[in-house]
Amino acid sequence: MTFELTGRSALVTGGTSGIGRATALALANLGAHVLVAGRDPRRGDEVVRAIREKGGKADFLATDLRDEDAARSLAARARELAGRVDVLVNNAGIYPFMATDETSEIDFDAVYALNVKAPYFLVAELAPDMAARGDGVIVNVTTMVAEFGMSGMALYGSSKAAVVLLTKAWAAEYGPRGVRVNAVSPGPVQTAGTAAMGDDLDVLASAAPAGRPGSADEVAEAIAFLATDRSSFVHGALLPVDGGRIAV
Ligand code: NAP
Repeated sequence: MTFELTGRSALVTGGTSGIGRATALALANLGAHVLVAGRDPRRGDEVVRAIREKGGKADFLATDLRDEDAARSLAARARELAGRVDVLVNNAGIYPFMATDETSEIDFDAVYALNVKAPYFLVAELAPDMAARGDGVIVNVTTMVAEFGMSGMALYGSSKAAVVLLTKAWAAEYGPRGVRVNAVSPGPVQTAGTAAMGDDLDVLASAAPAGRPGSADEVAEAIAFLATDRSSFVHGALLPVDGGRIAV
């Protein structure tokens, strides 16, 4: 049987949990060889096992995406394992809720290292190969709070706002050479990472037309759309998957 991503490989950062895990499963279901990247081998092995049990192809790549070296080394290992990387999903992210006047430089650097620097150097390492082949897809995961100001989200929102701009800049830079670069912008989504928010997630979600948090699978569907040729004329777009929050 042939699926849309058969013969293609996809590197999913933060593939061990939440939106990344759901994306890894969705892309594997479409036939991709999925490279699941994260720090936690226990969670990584679980995702790989779940994919293989369904007849899919996956491997775990352990990484702590703290700097350029880590990003370039992850890209190189992914390329070595799969031959090449056709789809890059920049999903790994942290989203601490904190007041600007309570933010340390360590907090600031940690958020920007994972949310901005890691995608930047993964793209720097992988996009030239894609461009040389004239074929490749990059999907960035941003957030609705990159689109409007929200108290407590200055650090996180600004890091993802940088990724929104990078999505457009990379579409301009690599699009003419066959690489499509797009982003999804989720609203509140139930994941392991947001579990600690408890009822606050529902309160946040209640401001949107959908009135409820989304599931990781709902965001993964949008990422899968952008990763396949179904979106072949979509470049530099930001697809909100936020229950309508930024529309109202
Ligand atoms: P999550 O459940 O908290 O999982 C975070 C993922 O990032 C894990 O796979 C984790 O892997 C990985 N990660 C964290 N630090 C890392 C590091 N230093 N190096 C490498 N990997 C690291 O996340 P989520 O809620 O699914 O969110 C995924 C993405 O969606 C993030 O970019 C987030 O900003 C965005 N987003 C989420 C929501 C939401 O409501 N959930 C809303 C809008 C946007 P290990 O633990 O294995 O390292």
